[in-house]
Amino acid sequence: MFPYCSHDEFQECRDIAVQLYEQGYRPEATRPPKKRPRRQLINKNRFILTNLPKEKNNSISRWWVGIRDSLDTWKRKTRYHQRLWLPLEMSTFHQKELKKGQIKSLELRYKRSTSEWWVYFQLEVLPPSSFPCPVDNSSSLPPAVLGIDLGINIPAAGVLLTPKRKLTIKEIKFWHTKQWNRINHRYKLKLSRLQRKGALNDQSGKKHQIYRFLGYLRRRYRNVKRSYIHQFVRDVVQTIETYAQMYDFFVVVGYPKNVRKGKGKEKGKEKSTRYFRRKLHQWNYALVLSLLRRALILRGFAPHRILIIDERGTSSHCSRCGKEVSRPVRGLVHCPFCNYTYHSDLTGARNIARKFLSHLFRPRATTIADYFTGQKFSLTHYTVCRGLSHWL
Ligand SMILES: [Zn+2]
Repeated sequence: MFPYCSHDEFQECRDIAVQLYEQGYRPEATRPPKKRPRRQLINKNRFILTNLPKEKNNSISRWWVGIRDSLDTWKRKTRYHQRLWLPLEMSTFHQKELKKGQIKSLELRYKRSTSEWWVYFQLEVLPPSSFPCPVDNSSSLPPAVLGIDLGINIPAAGVLLTPKRKLTIKEIKFWHTKQWNRINHRYKLKLSRLQRKGALNDQSGKKHQIYRFLGYLRRRYRNVKRSYIHQFVRDVVQTIETYAQMYDFFVVVGYPKNVRKGKGKEKGKEKSTRYFRRKLHQWNYALVLSLLRRALILRGFAPHRILIIDERGTSSHCSRCGKEVSRPVRGLVHCPFCNYTYHSDLTGARNIARKFLSHLFRPRATTIADYFTGQKFSLTHYTVCRGLSHWL
């Protein structure tokens, strides 16, 4: 309720409350009950889960959870945090479930139907990405690198670099959902209209209704967006699987983190409006990339085959000669040096793949780092890609 209160102020409040309580003050019994309890997740460093060994066990249960009090307690001039210890009734099923991942947080919930208190644990289940990956040069398939550029209007564009010297339609792929653009636009309009209405309509008394509906609409928009992201990831994984049967395959994805940061705010650069900046924020790139990575690893891809690199500078350079170019028309890149015109998203994708290759052919270090997770892979994993030198 009081987000701007400091810790000391809370401490004072509690001291006063404790004093009042000890003097015999009791709050009124006829307080209206809370309508909807707020979900409160307790972070993993604020509780302990312990298991007492069986021989010492003379209490109700073997499993206990101790939740830390966030405020200090003083005892003999030393400060410590008290714990609320709760006994758990843990079955073997629950113990097995807990071993599946790392515990992230905890939630206490009251089940009205059985009048019981339940402890819910949230687990983070990671894909087996930390396994040591074997260097396999035994594959007889030709090498190929797929560069993926995440965009705005078109969710993603991919270019496959193969030992062949030319790009054909087979090596170009757009993941395009027209429906999503339309639905997204419609939701945005509805939301902004309602927001304006809520802000203007002060005295009529309908404000709470508008805000309730706004909340409902936001939740629905989020869910719809999420379902589209999942569908997109499924599409990408499907095409990657078909490619992987033909080639010894590597996927390189550009992560547009720094592109988004300064877009449209610096002066003198390419003109971009508030509308464009807002548009950039409609995809949750981190979610997309982690889902994609996870899906591929679960399908048996070795972790070093999915690499996420920094996208900086890839969409503003010519994909043939590598010089910096301007964009005359939105969606096209024209290079005045080698007189080459190409689709801007495909340019980005091709440059991402080339950036990855340049890491291999002009190495500055013996490892290549994943931009997203920070995991480092030795360059010896990628010796197969030496056959792609003509793309640089
Ligand atoms: Zn050029």
